Amino acid sequence: MSALLEVDGISVSFDGFKAINGLSFSIGPAELRAVIGPNGAGKTTFMDIVTGKTRPDEGRVLWGESSVSLLKLNEAQIARAGVGRKFQRPTVFEDQSVADNLTMALKANRSPFPVLFWKPSPQSRARVAELAEEVGLAGQTARKAGELSHGQKQWLEIGMLLAQEPRLLLVDEPAAGMTLAEREQTTTLLKRLAETRAVVVVEHDMDFVRRLDCKVTVLHQGAVLAEGSLDHVTRNPDVIEVYLGR
Ligand code: ADP
Repeated sequence: MSALLEVDGISVSFDGFKAINGLSFSIGPAELRAVIGPNGAGKTTFMDIVTGKTRPDEGRVLWGESSVSLLKLNEAQIARAGVGRKFQRPTVFEDQSVADNLTMALKANRSPFPVLFWKPSPQSRARVAELAEEVGLAGQTARKAGELSHGQKQWLEIGMLLAQEPRLLLVDEPAAGMTLAEREQTTTLLKRLAETRAVVVVEHDMDFVRRLDCKVTVLHQGAVLAEGSLDHVTRNPDVIEVYLGR
């Protein structure tokens, strides 16, 4: 199976410091992957490069069946090409309903014109209901986003990202601050989403990574230190040294 995203030998320096140092990474079109690594390992910079926020000094970032170079596209074009990014803090419109938040996300995706000129069609209303269902908020569509729990806000934002029909979702610490029940639901959601698209979860919380039960990529000093199952990578002496300093 060919990769959806292939990052090949990228490096980037900030003031002479190599934050990413010859990183290669690839992910298939329907795969769940956890990316872990100590603070400063380069996880955020990696996501910044894939989404076009930061340009690497060298290397290639190839996308899709025809291996388009993402480095030729700007952030908006990369998002339109199918890369969605979920930041750690949910950024939903708190005073709008769940349905309106999802509708706005659909509008932003569908209409080349300002949101003002977009009329919701029956299809878009149906799609909003579908998105709410997909992220476990079917019974909450009339509620104001501000009234949702922290976990529900995170799912709403994932629903808003799904409105863009991403083929790759980059998700930063999705379970941070969630209750145990919400973490379980988030695990189920991410696994389900990864059945039909690539999902990369950047995560510190090893308990959550274990729940995801997927291939893990360990970053260290801007490169891949180890890759495989969580059990496999946590037995790796280099990984143990990086995490435990022994
Ligand atoms: P992580 O997300 O794994 O904690 P980052 O990608 O945020 O790691 O950072 C990797 C390294 O690059 C860190 O040492 C960080 O201080 C440095 N870094 C990241 N962004 C910048 C920047 N814009 N300017 C200077 N240094 C940066």
